[in-house]
Amino acid sequence: MTGRKEIEMKRSETKMSKVGRAPEYSLAAKFWYDVMEERGRQCGLLDSGKFTVDVADRRTPWGQKLAVLVEEVGEVGVEVCDAGEGRPDPGKLRRELTQVAAVCCAWAESLGGSDGRSGK
Ligand SMILES: [Mg+2]
Repeated sequence: MTGRKEIEMKRSETKMSKVGRAPEYSLAAKFWYDVMEERGRQCGLLDSGKFTVDVADRRTPWGQKLAVLVEEVGEVGVEVCDAGEGRPDPGKLRRELTQVAAVCCAWAESLGGSDGRSGK
């Protein structure tokens, strides 16, 4: 992490702590690690031909990217709905949320940096 990013994170942490809320950074960091692993897994599935839509490719039509994302969100919905009145299995729900975040990450990659000009 760059010095500037660390400073921004600290400022953000300070602001949030003033209002009484702050993320559980260790859990958030673990989640993002898992998201990166999932991104790698999804790239492997793309390379093997099991996945056919490259959400990280800027040339992929936006509608196809949205369909992939909505499908993943739908799988979160299945976990929640299958639990009925109970709580969804935390492991399964977390895995589905990780997959949603990985697809979001891929889509954001296709947009490039914050200026949106350097997507692959
Ligand atoms: Mg899924």
